[in-house]
Amino acid sequence: ARRHVALKESIRSIPDYPKPGIIFRDITTLLSDPRSFRRAVDSLVHPFAGGRIDQVAGIEARGFILGGAVAHQLSTGFVPIRKKGKLPHKTVSMAYALEYGTDEIEIHVDAVKAGDRVILVDDLIATGGTATAAVNLLRGMGAEIVAACFVIDLPEIGGAQRLRDLGVPVRTLMEFE
Ligand code: 5GP
Repeated sequence: ARRHVALKESIRSIPDYPKPGIIFRDITTLLSDPRSFRRAVDSLVHPFAGGRIDQVAGIEARGFILGGAVAHQLSTGFVPIRKKGKLPHKTVSMAYALEYGTDEIEIHVDAVKAGDRVILVDDLIATGGTATAAVNLLRGMGAEIVAACFVIDLPEIGGAQRLRDLGVPVRTLMEFE
């Protein structure tokens, strides 16, 4: 556990962002610190090294940075899951509920194949709404979700448990209240 103390200290906390009462956990300070960035990526992939993984799916936007590094480390492909309207080719999309309203994420129709073993990557899981939509999108295409990996878990909000209840193994590196 000690090696994760330093990693946790590399996260910057921004009070009242993006609105009053919210503490934003800023991973740019982890990314810009060479040892922290490497340690985070190594720790995320550690359980999966040597196993068969076909694709890493990263969620826009910070999931692209981490997911790209994870894919390189595991010698897999990388596929982006983006906010609606950003991908140029034919897409499949999935809507999900926000605190107020809904949002939608998309993936290219040919980004994963039935039977592909996929790891999902994002920086942080809160409600799990975004990740659950991504899991539903990938499973709808016939992919097998080997794991969902996040640097930060906010366990009191319950998103990681929500994913586990869907049968998705979840890996996180640290928790914040
Ligand atoms: P959820 O859908 O689990 O409620 O929210 C997770 C999504 O919101 C992730 O894509 C994550 O990047 C973003 N997010 C929400 N709060 C934070 C935060 O405090 N820090 C960071 N880095 N991302 C956040």
